[in-house]
Amino acid sequence: MKLDPTNFPEAYKGMIARRKGFTLVEIMIVVAILGIIIAIAIPTFFRSRELSRMRSCQENQAKIDGAKENWALDTRAAPDAEPQWSELVGVAAYIRKSPACPASGTYSINAVNEDPACSRSNEASFPHEFEISPPGNT
Ligand SMILES: [Zn+2]
Repeated sequence: MKLDPTNFPEAYKGMIARRKGFTLVEIMIVVAILGIIIAIAIPTFFRSRELSRMRSCQENQAKIDGAKENWALDTRAAPDAEPQWSELVGVAAYIRKSPACPASGTYSINAVNEDPACSRSNEASFPHEFEISPPGNT
C-alpha cells in the first residue's frame, strides 16, 4: 500500500508538524556545549595575550639596553652614568622610535651598569622583567 500524506489522520499530521525544528532541550544542550568551549578558550586567549605583551616588552628593554651600551661606548660614559631619552631616541640616535610597553607600562633607562626596567616588572603573573637569555634559549 502506498502512503499518501493527504490521507493521514489529523493527530498523526500534528506529530509530523511538531518534529520540525529543535526542541528546547536540544537547543539548551548546544548552548551548554558552546558555553563550555568558550569557558576553556577565553582564559587561554587572555593568558597568551599577556604572555606576548610581556615578551614584546622584554624585547623593548633589550633594545633600550643595547642603545644604552652603544651610547656609553660612543660617549665614553662612566658605568654609573644615565643617558636621557633624547640621547638614545631619534633618527640620528640609537633607537629610531621611542619604545612603548604594550601593556602601557613606563620604562626607566637606568645607569649604564644597570638593566633598564618597565614599571610593570613587579607584577605577579606576567612580570615585564628584563632578562638576557642566550640566543636559542627561550
Ligand atoms: Zn612593560
